[in-house]
Amino acid sequence: MTRKQEIEDEGAALLAEHGLSGWRVVAVSEEDDLGDEDDIAGSRGRCLHDERVIWINLRYEDDARNILLHEIAHALCPNDYGHGAEWAETARRIGYAPETRNT
Ligand SMILES: [Zn+2]
Repeated sequence: MTRKQEIEDEGAALLAEHGLSGWRVVAVSEEDDLGDEDDIAGSRGRCLHDERVIWINLRYEDDARNILLHEIAHALCPNDYGHGAEWAETARRIGYAPETRNT
């Protein structure tokens, strides 16, 4: 099984666990053609509410589970577009650990 498949399977399990039917997780490479406005480069993940898609950037595959939880919290908070109180509370509840910076 490829790492891409592993991340997408784990993502599907987490989506189901949190009741997000109709959503899917796609692990993408920065080289993938995602459309001009939908560039993953520089992002760990993206949550696209209209398409009900969560992208996980394979560049950060080692932290994929945490990125999944970060993006799933966005999916669960459609009215909290940034990282506000609702998002933070939801993210903490589902087990997200905020990224630590190296420097
Ligand atoms: Zn975010």
